[in-house]
Amino acid sequence: MLSLDSRRNKQDSQDYPVQYIKGIGPKRAKLLARLGIKTLEDAIFYLPYRYEDRRIVCKIADCKFNTFQSAFGKVIYTKLRDIPKRKMKIYELIITDGSSVLTGKWFNQPYMDKIFKVGDKVVLSGIMKRNNYWGIGFEMLNPEYEILKDETENLHVSRIVPIYKCTSGLSTRNLRSIMYNIILFAYKSLDEYMPVEILRKYNLPSIKEAIMNLHFPYDGVSVDALNKGITEYHKRIAFDELFFLQIGLCILKNSLLHKKGISFNAQGKLLKKMLQNIPFTLTNAQKRVIEEILHDMKKPYPMNRLLQGDVGSGKTIVAMAAILQAVESGYQAVMMAPTEILAEQHYFNIYPLVEKLGLKCELLTRSCKKRPLEQIASGELNIIIGTHALLQENIKFKNLGIVIIDEQHRFGVLQRASLRKKGKNPDVLIMTATPIPRTLSLTFYGDLDYSVIDEMPPDRKPVITKLYTPRQKEEIYKIMLSELKKGRQAYIVYPTILESEKLKLRSAVVEKEILEKVFPKFKIGLLHGRMKSSEREEIMMAFKNKQIDILVSTTVIEVGVDVPNASLMLIEHAERFGLAQLHQLRGRVGRGPYQSYCFLVAYGKLTEEAKRRLEVIVKYSDGFKIAEQDIKIRGPGEILGTKQSGMPEWKIADLIRDTRLLTIARKEAFNILKECPNLNQWPKLKKMVEKFWKGKIEIFKTS
Ligand code: ADP
Ligand code: MG
Repeated sequence: MLSLDSRRNKQDSQDYPVQYIKGIGPKRAKLLARLGIKTLEDAIFYLPYRYEDRRIVCKIADCKFNTFQSAFGKVIYTKLRDIPKRKMKIYELIITDGSSVLTGKWFNQPYMDKIFKVGDKVVLSGIMKRNNYWGIGFEMLNPEYEILKDETENLHVSRIVPIYKCTSGLSTRNLRSIMYNIILFAYKSLDEYMPVEILRKYNLPSIKEAIMNLHFPYDGVSVDALNKGITEYHKRIAFDELFFLQIGLCILKNSLLHKKGISFNAQGKLLKKMLQNIPFTLTNAQKRVIEEILHDMKKPYPMNRLLQGDVGSGKTIVAMAAILQAVESGYQAVMMAPTEILAEQHYFNIYPLVEKLGLKCELLTRSCKKRPLEQIASGELNIIIGTHALLQENIKFKNLGIVIIDEQHRFGVLQRASLRKKGKNPDVLIMTATPIPRTLSLTFYGDLDYSVIDEMPPDRKPVITKLYTPRQKEEIYKIMLSELKKGRQAYIVYPTILESEKLKLRSAVVEKEILEKVFPKFKIGLLHGRMKSSEREEIMMAFKNKQIDILVSTTVIEVGVDVPNASLMLIEHAERFGLAQLHQLRGRVGRGPYQSYCFLVAYGKLTEEAKRRLEVIVKYSDGFKIAEQDIKIRGPGEILGTKQSGMPEWKIADLIRDTRLLTIARKEAFNILKECPNLNQWPKLKKMVEKFWKGKIEIFKTS
């Protein structure tokens, strides 16, 4: 319990407990707490989930059928009917406004009988139906309801009325009155924290105006816009959230400018040599991105850059350019992958490139038996490729200059900041295997500089993607046979390793035996995550060297595998894979000059989501487009793992809808921090930003 004194002190603060507001008290405070409302701030941001237009009353007789409507009337009849045959109780209520009658029906909610009595004035809201039982009038099934008590009180009628989610013991009407009291109380302490120039520039309302109208809109606001969440008041709150977010990210980013990093001043001889050794020329996008990276690396503070590029766009060679710049400048380079198998793949891809340059490169993962610790400490090894184990364990580098992370969204903003502490401010380059739209990367990678490879290597033909039913598999096998006869290779991917009776999934191990009968003339190899790493290496090498024609595997080949001769992929139980995963898997083919195919076989009755996923993957080949669709299906939080990433939470901003607002918020965040790096000139704003980040990050400590 707070003492009276501390209560008074806190009255101005948004942390003030709602319990002490007039008319609330401990009992109601408990009910409010169930809704997540404990403090003034909780209440301020507990927004209505919809708004009802009660400015002008629509006569029952004028209501439209089969749409959501609200109708007023006086109760003229109530009845609780028991239908034992159907084990059902129906509560019926009839209201009239003189124009017609409306029946409300509630099923198996007998307590309704205690709520209404004849003569009550009520509002019923729900889908308006024709009343087939009576033959005349209207009917609503399980409508929302509100009993109007004092019609002179203009909070509940004759206006746009907010409808809040309530809880048992707290009626819609009750909660509305409570919220009204709270908002009026809070109004006093709502001080504008936003620089007025910004508000003017973007035509944003003041915080007082926004909060008041979000809860109790004035008559001129569009109810439709309110319900869609697109009023200027919503925009103001969304802007605040995005602005706070970007200020935090910008501070994180700027903090690196004050750290001493390495200037990698090599001439680029190694890079030149490597480029002479590869059988292709760089795309313009690759050239541009390499330039951006090298430019950063030459600067005397640590690089912190994100490299985006679709599957097969050629990120490896770009990463190599960064590695070689560090090595030629006399430093060691590390490449970190999220899984062992991916680390192994990077090693296979990179080893041949650096061997020719006379550099030493080794693989280090948990399952590596001999660990080249001494060669790392002495600096004899130039390049080390491995998993997170590389940084967690006590491995001493002689002079680590750059860390390349192949991340796949497994690192959040905060982990990235802590990562840097493990070295002596090395440069960091993060590669994402799954591209995400720009707005999302501005949010989740907003602390990083950004490079994108937006061009595919020439003569890539789009992969022909088709969805099949299990019965059509003969057809797939026919095409596969003709591809194999042309000298191509194929992947067959399964979701699990061993047959699981329960799931009845085709499993790689069992199916391999069946496939051997279908393709007796061809060599079939098996690859999965439970194999020893030496076995995996052997199989991958054999596939690369064409000693294996068909590679049967689980999703371990999702990323990193690069065999341009493979032109066909069959994905079994495609319905079980996520969109990003399907896109990554498909990215294993179409890496060479050959027309490639990706065949998806789906089993059983598909869920709506699975259907949409498969439609998207068949229709689109561009990873950015696919990511956009994925976000539409699953929401951005799911995709980027917002919860795990340690990002602050926001309530109103919508990363898909508010793209433009995000760009503005970012620009203004950078501007204001340029003028005033610690926000000391803006103490109220500073407090809001700190609160938003909830101490997850000591954003103002560094400046
Ligand atoms: P990802 O971006 O998926 O990591 P990789 O770096 O593995 O892509 O490159 C995919 C394939 O394309 C590799 O076989 C690579 O050698 C090849 N490649 C990369 N850049 C080019 C280019 N400019 N022209 C032709 N092929 C290229
Ligand atoms: Mg790659």
